[in-house]
Amino acid sequence: MARPPLVPLGPELSGAERTRFARHLLLPDLGLDGQRRLRSARVLVVGAGGLGSPALLYLAAAGVGTIGVVDDDVVEVTNLQRQVVHGVDDVGRPKVDSAADAVAAISPDTVVVRHRDRLDALGALGVLADYDLVLDGADNFPTRYLVGDACARLGIPHVWGSVYRFDGQVSVWWAGEGPCYACVFPTQPPAGAVPSCAVGGVLGAVCASVGSVMATEAVKLVAGIGDPLVGRLLVHDALRQTWGAVPVRRDPECRVCGSGADATRALGWATAHAAADGDEDVEAMERVQAARPSVDVVELARLLDERASGGTGFVLLDVREPGERDVAAIPGSELVPVALVRDGVEVPGASGRVYVHCKSGGRSAEAVDLLRARGVDAIDVEGGILAWSRDVDPSVPLY
Ligand SMILES: [Zn+2]
Repeated sequence: MARPPLVPLGPELSGAERTRFARHLLLPDLGLDGQRRLRSARVLVVGAGGLGSPALLYLAAAGVGTIGVVDDDVVEVTNLQRQVVHGVDDVGRPKVDSAADAVAAISPDTVVVRHRDRLDALGALGVLADYDLVLDGADNFPTRYLVGDACARLGIPHVWGSVYRFDGQVSVWWAGEGPCYACVFPTQPPAGAVPSCAVGGVLGAVCASVGSVMATEAVKLVAGIGDPLVGRLLVHDALRQTWGAVPVRRDPECRVCGSGADATRALGWATAHAAADGDEDVEAMERVQAARPSVDVVELARLLDERASGGTGFVLLDVREPGERDVAAIPGSELVPVALVRDGVEVPGASGRVYVHCKSGGRSAEAVDLLRARGVDAIDVEGGILAWSRDVDPSVPLY
């Protein structure tokens, strides 16, 4: 179903602009009016990463007048495999800066607003309220739920994309017009429960496929052309090279946009805490976490040295995925991915002491809690292999 243009008509185009955007002006649906709307549009891109990169490039090339970029990260070497707005010389720079440079190189007239922050519940509404629509390419669930919640409260479209390994998903959430993000994904998964691209990997070009669909949806919404992905979830499988659309519906009882909504609650809270039935559950969870014993990596290195010279025996469990182990591993560790721990497999050395590490500490904390609940003397290694590389052995690659 076509919808009215999101953005009003801006001033007439100059001669130079008519030349520059000639291939758009030729499009029967888009034309001169659509281009004027694009130039007046204010689009916010959350995350200058794998999805944000292609989206930013195509929004800039399309002549979007104002582009906001939200990202609090700096460019790392591991980003370059897919985050095509950043180059080798940008490593160590804030992503918002290299993204702004990439936009300026394509479209010097586009105004880029840099938000070098992670969105939080206090500031999100203020940031998003300045924009006509939001493209969400965030790499973490708290930000995604926060953006979904804020867009729903403001009534602006939330163009959402997600990638993992060879798969992608895209939709346009829009409270009042169709489902919001929380209608379809009501509960934020617990930290570490869903593997991220940093853990499972992602094919760079899949980000381009999904990110360019997001840019296309943004252009359609701004100009009011075609049938946007409202109420449809596009599902892409790059290995089979298929795209399919699944209908998704509004939940009348949605905690964010339906009868379950409470405008006075803190942003992002309802979805983030929906998994717990009550405060007792949260308190019980916090008690378990407070009781989780841990060591730092320097202490672990000492224990491993001691073990190597015939001292006290123990098992060092690596709960990451096999592919991560190919990139970097702590010598003397044994692999049991956290999913297997969840499934209840017997871990090696379970009758004695077991130290548990992952990449940065999220999955190992979960595994330690699970193992301790089964009576295993499990100890968490704080900061995971990233801390090991930083504080013990810099020759272990970061990823
Ligand atoms: Zn909803």
